[in-house]
Amino acid sequence: SKAHFGLVGLGVMGENLVLNAERNGFSSVVYNRTYSKTESFLLGRGLGKSISGAKDLKELVNKLERPRRILMMVKAGPATDAVISQISPYLEEGDLLIDGGNALFSDTERRVEELESKSFGYIGMGVSGGAKGALEGPSMMPGGTKSSYESVEQLLTKMAAQVDDGPCVSYIGPGGSGHFVKTVHNGIEYGIEQILAESYDLMKRMCGMTGDQMADVFAYWNSTEELSSYLVEITETCLRTKDSVDGTDLVEKIMDKAGQKGTGLWTVISALELGASVPTIYASLNARVMSSLKSQRVYASTLLKEPLIGSYELGTPSDGMSPIMDAVVLSTIASYAQGMEIMRIASHEYNYDLHMPSIAQIWKGGCIIRSRLLVHIQNAFQKDPQLKNLLLDSWFLNQVDKRIAGLAKVVSYASQAGIPVPCFSSTLDYINSYRTSRLPQNLVQAMRDCFGSHTYERTDKEGFFHTEWLN
Ligand code: NDP
Repeated sequence: SKAHFGLVGLGVMGENLVLNAERNGFSSVVYNRTYSKTESFLLGRGLGKSISGAKDLKELVNKLERPRRILMMVKAGPATDAVISQISPYLEEGDLLIDGGNALFSDTERRVEELESKSFGYIGMGVSGGAKGALEGPSMMPGGTKSSYESVEQLLTKMAAQVDDGPCVSYIGPGGSGHFVKTVHNGIEYGIEQILAESYDLMKRMCGMTGDQMADVFAYWNSTEELSSYLVEITETCLRTKDSVDGTDLVEKIMDKAGQKGTGLWTVISALELGASVPTIYASLNARVMSSLKSQRVYASTLLKEPLIGSYELGTPSDGMSPIMDAVVLSTIASYAQGMEIMRIASHEYNYDLHMPSIAQIWKGGCIIRSRLLVHIQNAFQKDPQLKNLLLDSWFLNQVDKRIAGLAKVVSYASQAGIPVPCFSSTLDYINSYRTSRLPQNLVQAMRDCFGSHTYERTDKEGFFHTEWLN
């Protein structure tokens, strides 16, 4: 008999997703460009399961029930286009391709149009959760035509992570919206990772704490309503892990250069294009760029002289390093708020019609940015679907009230000590700007009118005005 669904691409993600589907009762046929990988998978982790292999794409297509559902988990970019053009000749009307890779959403937009014009279905689906999530239950963000989604809804619903109020998958919207939302997810992830790294740097360099002492603080943070999350949990693990050779903290042996594959950059580019203000997320991207200038930084540290770090009171481990926790909580909230802001504008500009409470809901489990905060984010958007900024919701307003002094203290001490805290300081400026009813851009407008006759609006009367400033 024919199999339920096909998989192209037996990388770590593909392997785990197909095993996940099989465990949930869906038989499959797998294909990989390099056939030896298919063979070793079938004789290894795939042995004894309702999974069979295909040597080529024609065989894959022939072994599937109709309408066919084929998941592509290949390297994003040209590889995805190659697979689409190689498989298309064998597809028939109504067959559905799903791209689960980290595609650029505008590529997905183009592919949806191309394939739908040939009467095939196409779903661009963001998948988050890494290898473990793929196997045990990822968070999935599928976008495309609603009817295409419906034909795989049962499969995806069973494969997804489950939280108290349902599976971590739901229809996102048309075109490239699924990949867009995944991109923003990754932008938020960049933010939170940098925020946690900044807190580690302060505890290490300003408070002289050891890996285990810092790990204890992260363990405490992970027990709180505000910070309980997957990323805080794994930070504790990373800080506790010792080098197997000499037993010292392993993180201290790791090169301080962070890589990136593009999604953080795409988030920031989209934000700039859409006019969304995302300083915390941008700061995290720039921090990775700065980190990659290792040899320049080493040289500059001898000329620009590394600062002498004094001693500063930033709380105690028993109070969870209270001001640092304030900084981490508000900056994490700012990352989510800025991510939601990009999506709010994109929803309108790209006609995605995104449903914010559902997006918060499907991020609560399976994905890298899962956290207890998302419960409050979901509540906030459920209460007010038109909410302009997360910071305006009462639960988040209260957090700002309680914690802004701690954040300001951390930023000010860090600046005095010469320790960079780009996400913390950007967050402080973000909140301070957002809560300022009169910013100094009146003067910017005056300058623009002075040198370029760009005109300005007035606070006391309607219309556009020009002054001959230089007369
Ligand atoms: P990789 O990104 O390393 O991709 C490997 C797979 O792509 C292999 O099966 C490889 O085949 C195939 N491939 C590469 N080029 C081509 C080509 N030109 N034609 C056909 N097949 C090709 O594997 P991952 O499993 O890590 O990721 C798969 C996708 O999922 C990527 O888009 C990734 O961005 C995304 N993703 C990854 C996550 C992760 O945590 N790793 C999380 C979420 C999404 P071959 O064996 O022949 O080289």
